[in-house]
Amino acid sequence: MTESKRMWELWSLDYLKTKLDVKSTINLFLIPVIALTGDTAIGYIYHYESLILNCFVDSATHFMIASFSWNYVGNLSINKRSHMFAVFMCGLLASLIDIDHFIAVGTMDLQVATRLLHRPLLHCTTVLSAVAVLLALLSIKIHSIPYLKLSLIITTAVWTHHWRDGYRRGIWICPIGSTPPYGYVLYLVGLIALPLGLHFILRFTSELVQKAKNQDLQQVYLI
Ligand SMILES: [Zn+2]
Repeated sequence: MTESKRMWELWSLDYLKTKLDVKSTINLFLIPVIALTGDTAIGYIYHYESLILNCFVDSATHFMIASFSWNYVGNLSINKRSHMFAVFMCGLLASLIDIDHFIAVGTMDLQVATRLLHRPLLHCTTVLSAVAVLLALLSIKIHSIPYLKLSLIITTAVWTHHWRDGYRRGIWICPIGSTPPYGYVLYLVGLIALPLGLHFILRFTSELVQKAKNQDLQQVYLI
């Protein structure tokens, strides 16, 4: 068995061991439950036409979905306090994405902002994903795990927000265009698949950062 194949198998087993604990699994399955609860509540509020409450519950649902997602994706952290701060920041970032509605209309008026006909810039998945990818590449270059985590916190916040908006409006991949809206069941399944995939990416890229660091140390040693 080649060295790389052996490493891969060990890594995969380790991955499964870490992520099959009860707490993480409950955390993961709570994400679609939160989405379902938030979406149902919004439908109920809409019936009574309270715009402020509607926007508050919508924003809180984005916050909770992103926070629970990062709690799953980044729970490798040894420092619990910094992990909880990252969980909060991820949720906050996901909620703040909707601020572009107000920027686009140039007023804080909720009525005007929610009647915007086109989707504003922060709802273009390409823009913020490109920022996250650049940050991830920089983290490998400078061997920084905190930068790598920041890149994945941004990705988690943006993708969970866009995925939630997307079941009604599709995913906007500017400048190419937009996907059609998708079914509610696919949306709920995606909310489980997203953190699973992002956790996998975090572990994989963390090893890349570590490898780049070791290689550089070796080079310095040889010189
Ligand atoms: Zn939105």
